[in-house]
Amino acid sequence: MDSGTFSNEIHVNRKKGCKKLIVRVKQDGQVYVTAPWLYPKGQIERFILQNAEWIRTQQNKSAAKRKYITESRTHFTHFHSLEIAKAADESLRIFVKDGVIKAIVPHSLTIERQQIQDALRKSIELVLKKEAQTYLPQRTMLLAKEYGFQVSEIKFSSAKTRWGCCNSQKRIIFSYFLMTLPFHLIDYVILHELCHTIYMNHSKEFYALLDRCCGGKSKLYRAEMKQCAIDIFPKFAEGEE
Ligand SMILES: [Zn+2]
Repeated sequence: MDSGTFSNEIHVNRKKGCKKLIVRVKQDGQVYVTAPWLYPKGQIERFILQNAEWIRTQQNKSAAKRKYITESRTHFTHFHSLEIAKAADESLRIFVKDGVIKAIVPHSLTIERQQIQDALRKSIELVLKKEAQTYLPQRTMLLAKEYGFQVSEIKFSSAKTRWGCCNSQKRIIFSYFLMTLPFHLIDYVILHELCHTIYMNHSKEFYALLDRCCGGKSKLYRAEMKQCAIDIFPKFAEGEE
């Protein structure tokens, strides 16, 4: 179908049980039309054109909300950079070597395509996980030693709802997304969990201890943390300065 008036292709999916035309705009701006099995092509096209304004509005809305992984934003992790190159063919290859996540993307696809974004995200998340497994245990043990805490075990999760947690057995679990934070905030989260090895609550005593460990800056760090979403996109990466 001619999609010249739209920024993306239009996908038509005919279904036998379908009674009427349904148009949806996905997160990546792609337009999906579900049509009854024998519905005439011309009428589908007319339907699209009649709804053109609505489709474009939806595309603009999702584009404004979307955060893309692009080469210009290389700082997704502390220890790896991202390089994106176009392939001569239609293959998609991503590999990690010497501190670089190198992505070779199909010649005909733009970087914004969902397929590419999903693959890039997956690689970045894998790298974050590896970085977390390397960096966080030694950093946690260093801080624990410095401030006199004891830890029984350090584990990792892909949690997107909390940066870390600590149980009464002094077992700490960190979300590997913690690696997207600036180093001073990583320390803040580590210290927060270490303080839970003494106080299993958020009492006044807990915060007083945490503040001592943070050199009196815990309130400042806490305010900074509130601006950080748990995602691959680092803090202040896009229009949040
Ligand atoms: Zn807590």
